[in-house]
Amino acid sequence: MPKKQRAPITTTDSGIPVASDEFSLTAGPNGPTVLHDHYLVQKMQHFNRERIPERVVHAKGSGAHGFFEVTADVTQWTNASFLSQVGKRTPMFARFSQVAGELGSADTVRDPRGFALKFYTDEGNYDLVGNNTPTFFVRDASKFEDFIHSQKRMPDTGLRSNDMQWDFWTLSPETAHQVTVLMSDRGTPRSYRRMNGYSSHTYSWMNAAGERFWVKYHFKTVQGIENFTLAEADAMVSEDPDYLRRDLWDAIAAGDAAEWRLEMQIMPFEEAAVYRFNPFDLTKVWPQADYPPITIGRMVLDRNPENHFAEVEQSGFAPARVVPGIGLSPDKMLMGRVFSYHDTHLHRIGANYEQLPINAPKCPVHSYNKDGAMTYRHAGTQPVYAPNSYGGPQADPSKETPTWWVEAAEIGRYAYEKHADDDDFVQPGALYRDVMNKTDREHLAANIIAHASDGVSADIQTRVIDYWSKVDPDLGTRVASGLGHRVAQRRAA
Ligand code: NDP
Repeated sequence: MPKKQRAPITTTDSGIPVASDEFSLTAGPNGPTVLHDHYLVQKMQHFNRERIPERVVHAKGSGAHGFFEVTADVTQWTNASFLSQVGKRTPMFARFSQVAGELGSADTVRDPRGFALKFYTDEGNYDLVGNNTPTFFVRDASKFEDFIHSQKRMPDTGLRSNDMQWDFWTLSPETAHQVTVLMSDRGTPRSYRRMNGYSSHTYSWMNAAGERFWVKYHFKTVQGIENFTLAEADAMVSEDPDYLRRDLWDAIAAGDAAEWRLEMQIMPFEEAAVYRFNPFDLTKVWPQADYPPITIGRMVLDRNPENHFAEVEQSGFAPARVVPGIGLSPDKMLMGRVFSYHDTHLHRIGANYEQLPINAPKCPVHSYNKDGAMTYRHAGTQPVYAPNSYGGPQADPSKETPTWWVEAAEIGRYAYEKHADDDDFVQPGALYRDVMNKTDREHLAANIIAHASDGVSADIQTRVIDYWSKVDPDLGTRVASGLGHRVAQRRAA
């Protein structure tokens, strides 16, 4: 709260001084209120319009400002201006979030966490909209809405349903990798400052010579990873539902800036076609032995927002926002998100949401888009069409972002073409067997059992056991014995 100082006079939004903060205009002390008390009426009208639609996904978030600093020369891979020099700093804003819960939901419920970054670069805003997991549940945008519906609420009861979640997951084997991470203790991080962030998608970089590379971003927490156990996360739901928001705010307010190291995985352009995994499949990682991460920079968050609504709620991130030197990839989920994110902000905030201070670039804007509700960036006498003879902005062909090949083929509805090692269960199996320690494995099994015991039908529990047996037979056995009694009886019957 601001420090106490001599209070200014209350005004209307038009700046007109107001005569009373407590009494409305009435016909005598006991008489009815009159409609021409415009101050009272406008106060009520504005109050009724205080909320904008909450995000359908990632509704509850927390944010902080900071900067990105380049720590290694990357000009051999990209000519992105903000990455052009060691030591170069770019201001940025980060928003962390829950995925499925609504605006007021508890912070420590099991969920992936959003990790959305906005870099205010000198060549426009670059948004990297990732998660704290390197993969995702589905690989084709056509399944995204169905997946999210399964995580939300039942149409009749308005309740969330574990049965619905496991039904979707077990019918969609490509979810196994992400669900393994979600059901591990990484599904309940102890702090936004103590989790990693991943681009998850593959993007492209292009250097000044026009050479292209495929890349993945890994933001590694310098604070170290820390997670809640299931019991701790459950307890925190009632103890402090805003725990993660408070932790981030308090740390930064106390001068304890949060830092992440940016490590890149970089794949030569031609290797994508012959790599053993489909490098654009969002349910897969690139094993680090194949593409060792290279440290190239650091992200520091050291300033809290001044106003939560203006900055955290009205921020709009969109993966379509890539800057010269950086491009997209033929990842089918990314293709869908490139459309969907900007579209949702047009609906949620308005046609000119990019003019709000939190979203506005810090470099000049010379766009031919004009007008619309609430616009206040006007182009003066600038021509409103291109081409023109009156000195309007002109595009620069050298600023094309990297593109990639498209095979000439019949338009149709396809699964990805298989690469040698593509399989929905290979990578989660490797995570379980080769990466997790004994405690991680025990907690994973216990978390699955607790989740799949809670309101999940016997039929779907049978599929849950089959699903985890495919990830790893030992894990399947553990889950079966945890859920087993009912399943064993059913099988015997
Ligand atoms: P590596 O042994 O080279 O890397 C495994 C990585 O897993 C670690 O670097 C760490 O990355 C992450 N990790 C460590 N503990 C856990 C945990 N308890 N839960 C989830 N992730 C953990 O193996 P590979 O690269 O060959 O990958 C093996 C498996 O590891 C993959 O199938 C995938 O499930 C998982 N993984 C791989 C990542 C990658 O980009 N290759 C990234 C994250 C997980 P970090 O520091 O990012 O947490």
